[in-house]
Amino acid sequence: MADCNETLRELDTFLDGELADETRAAIQSHLGGCMDCLQAFDFHAELRQVISAKCQNDEMPPGLLSKIEMCFGEDFDGDGRVG
Ligand SMILES: [Zn+2]
Repeated sequence: MADCNETLRELDTFLDGELADETRAAIQSHLGGCMDCLQAFDFHAELRQVISAKCQNDEMPPGLLSKIEMCFGEDFDGDGRVG
């Protein structure tokens, strides 16, 4: 079973679609019962779409990425795994 830390650690890989079936299933089942992680995944998935849409047109404005990273850092500061 995936816990919150494990789930959030695999977030990017999950969104890349590069997880093994077994891990993906564990994470999906965790998301089914954990609103916090579900919201984090939703937020990141949406953010990725925004970023990839922007990147196709323009270069990323300087500072945006670090701003995003800062926000994520605050999000995940609790367990200290990201950053
Ligand atoms: Zn969770």
